Amino acid sequence: MEHSAPVKRVAILGSTGSIGRSALAVVDAHPGRIAVVGLAAGENAVRLAEQVRRFRPRAVAMATEPALAVLRTALADQGAATVQIAGHGGAGLVALATRPDVDMVLCASSGTAALEAVLAAIEAGKAIALANKEVLVMAGHLVMAAARRHRVPILPVDSEHNAIHQCLHGRRADEVRRLILTASGGPFRGLSTEALSTVSADDALQHPTWKMGPKITIDSATLMNKGLEVVEAHWLFGVPADRIDVVVHPQSVVHSLVELRDGSVIAQLGVTDMRLPIQYAFSYPERWDAALPSLDLAHLGRLDFEHPDRDRFPCLGLAFRALRAEGALPAVMNAANEVAVEAFLAGRLAFAGIPDLIERTMDACEGTGGRPADTLAAVREADAWARAYARTRLPG
Ligand code: MG
Repeated sequence: MEHSAPVKRVAILGSTGSIGRSALAVVDAHPGRIAVVGLAAGENAVRLAEQVRRFRPRAVAMATEPALAVLRTALADQGAATVQIAGHGGAGLVALATRPDVDMVLCASSGTAALEAVLAAIEAGKAIALANKEVLVMAGHLVMAAARRHRVPILPVDSEHNAIHQCLHGRRADEVRRLILTASGGPFRGLSTEALSTVSADDALQHPTWKMGPKITIDSATLMNKGLEVVEAHWLFGVPADRIDVVVHPQSVVHSLVELRDGSVIAQLGVTDMRLPIQYAFSYPERWDAALPSLDLAHLGRLDFEHPDRDRFPCLGLAFRALRAEGALPAVMNAANEVAVEAFLAGRLAFAGIPDLIERTMDACEGTGGRPADTLAAVREADAWARAYARTRLPG
């Protein structure tokens, strides 16, 4: 190996999920470049214990005390008593993410639990690789202001934002006319409004191009995933809502594009494998080899693009509305969406009920004059209010 950069020491929040496992595959492929210092997981103690045995982190955290108890037993069985337990819940994530021996925190946990940990890590000067959307959707203003204050890079792992980061590399903000996010369109791209009314959670969990967890897979089916990504792109790249566009691209080969002021369009293409954007975030500003297959365009034959249908998939329009309103409306939208997706997965809400519930919650927030998002407490309050409100509006 001919590199001289020091080993990057990472903490992975959400190590047992889909992104976390891909990240550990990247670590596996580059043992001289990345070392795992901390691992945090939700409830999957058995898989976390396997990861501890394989990657020998110094500290671990889990979501709950019972999960930690299972982990302790599993670790004792395998004689891995040297790993430190950083804690559980939000405090465990903060303890892990702010350790002095951590250089970079990969935030790959789902949901909103990691928000405090990401802010604490930024304040402790850690570089952030961000795979979680909720952190920026809820508190993009706070997170980006903290990152600027502490001169900490936020490297996007979400494939679209990672693509835009690559397309923007070395360009000035005034060169950029428009960001264009690609969307696979999800499993229901071609369905009529009528057909959409009867789709089940099982139908939605069959994603055509990406293998992901259930929440993001449903978000991908409703296009809320793309809506959250529009908000995310606004905060990451400082581009206003009216200069962010979405184009449906079913093959998911063009990961996103940037249009420059002279009309040139720069795109990033690649195989659909999350190891690629994760490795980019780990290696940036370097590039490392990867054991992924080359993109075979001739084999693909064609790349298709179409406008998203905002009538059949209202979540995209709701996200643009939330972003334009600013304040806590994006956090309110996100919280209502989590309640709606949970209810849909449990068979308590129809597919079309998802955007309805989100819209009603957003209307109720704006109807009472909106809510601020200028402090973490205000964001958490708006999030809690929206969850409670949305739950009272669930059928049955
Ligand atoms: Mg994405």
